[in-house]
Amino acid sequence: MTIKQPFHDKNHRSQNPSIIVVGGGPAGMMAAIRGAQLGSSVTLIEKNATLGRKLLLTGKGRCNLTNAAGLDVFLGSYGVHGPFLRDVFKIFFNAELMRFFEERGVALKVERQARVFPVSDRSGSILEALKKELQARRVQVLFRAEARDIAVDHKTVTGVVLATGQQLKSCHVIWATGGKSYPSTGSTGEGILMASRWGHRVVPLRPALVGLETRQTFPGDMRGLTLKNVRLRFSNGKKQIVSDIGEVLFTDFGVSGPLVFSHSGQVVDWLTVPHRVTVSLDLKPSLTEEILTQRFSSDILVSRHRKIKNTLKGYLPARFVDVFLRQGGVSPDKALCQLTLPEQRALVRLFKDFILDIRGARSFKEAMVTQGGVDLKNVNPRTMESRVVRGLFFAGEMLDIDGTTGGFNLQAAFSTGYVAGESAAMRR
Ligand SMILES: Cc1cc2nc3c(=O)[nH]c(=O)nc-3n(C[C@H](O)[C@H](O)[C@H](O)COP(=O)(O)OP(=O)(O)OC[C@H]3O[C@@H](n4cnc5c(N)ncnc54)[C@H](O)[C@@H]3O)c2cc1C
Repeated sequence: MTIKQPFHDKNHRSQNPSIIVVGGGPAGMMAAIRGAQLGSSVTLIEKNATLGRKLLLTGKGRCNLTNAAGLDVFLGSYGVHGPFLRDVFKIFFNAELMRFFEERGVALKVERQARVFPVSDRSGSILEALKKELQARRVQVLFRAEARDIAVDHKTVTGVVLATGQQLKSCHVIWATGGKSYPSTGSTGEGILMASRWGHRVVPLRPALVGLETRQTFPGDMRGLTLKNVRLRFSNGKKQIVSDIGEVLFTDFGVSGPLVFSHSGQVVDWLTVPHRVTVSLDLKPSLTEEILTQRFSSDILVSRHRKIKNTLKGYLPARFVDVFLRQGGVSPDKALCQLTLPEQRALVRLFKDFILDIRGARSFKEAMVTQGGVDLKNVNPRTMESRVVRGLFFAGEMLDIDGTTGGFNLQAAFSTGYVAGESAAMRR
């Protein structure tokens, strides 16, 4: 365990901090800052040698820290668990988060779909601002310090036990150890397992915002190709999810990209029972089958001897045309005038319903977030305090909350962290 000096002020600290925060991600850092702003002496424990490793990866290194949308959009972005966040958003929402960074010299900008990024396009600017504030508030940060357990007496927390066996005493502990995704960043899900040992119910962990593997192998031949302006329809035979219009990316293993991510959580759940799960690509969502049929017929009239593969290059990216024709059972070198009526119908149909079978999802190693975690019924939504162990607070992705892409996950981490820090400080 090392104590990084800039964050450590020996003269200022009493021996036992009034709050211990476990986990130096966005939730833990914000919890520590808020606790310290309200006058508590705070110790932040991080098992890595640095803070915010995952934060640095966010938004492809640019950090989509929140979204400029209103409360209703936010609450709808976390599925059934959205309403749990209503109370914390009343205290610390996107406007407060943006002000927090702007007041500390980080200029922000709003991009498409109301996504908020630092003007620098560097997640490092967000992390630096948090680190400076921790330092200014004299938060003591213990690096390479792994928490293994909490100490409890009569259902009340009394401290944190480190992997070394050392016990740090405090009657306010904020547990913000993250989910299970991208374990290389330090979030391995162990903190959630510990919470279950202390009597909390844990909703099983599953990867979300993750790519989906297809039974068909041809996506691998087109890896890196993005189809724009498509709509996806996921189905398990009983239920369907229809996406917005957007992009799909072909990869080594299948499909990925924002539209796939957004619905992957639900699809992962479907895959737990043996059903045929499919994704159908509508390659021309703004055109009906009738209009496509008319366009095709006029192509045939105008260029009777043109090869079908050349005509389709006007409709689809060139790299996709061969695969498309193979799926439609039509030879690429056929002239338009040789196409039979059933072949024409099959191709028009394929534009609207290009089906791939989903056989699995990528693992936690690649998932952007974790579904599942500490059951929200065990947590007071106004304070983030555990309903099982007094003085123990939870924050961030270790809770059973996950949002779609667009800055919603970081906002949830910052907001729950802020409220946990505030509640712990007020309880002193
Ligand atoms: C590639 C990628 C891109 C993403 N992009 C975005 C984005 O642009 N916008 C967005 O909103 N969300 C994004 N997310 C999701 C977002 O990063 C997470 O939801 C967020 O980091 C969760 O914050 P947290 O503080 O709860 O947990 P984490 O950031 O996971 O932090 C938890 C910390 O706890 C530490 N820890 C764990 N166990 C212990 C222990 N026993 N003792 C001491 N320390 C411990 C870990 O080392 C880690 O530092 C992205 C995620 C990934 C993987």
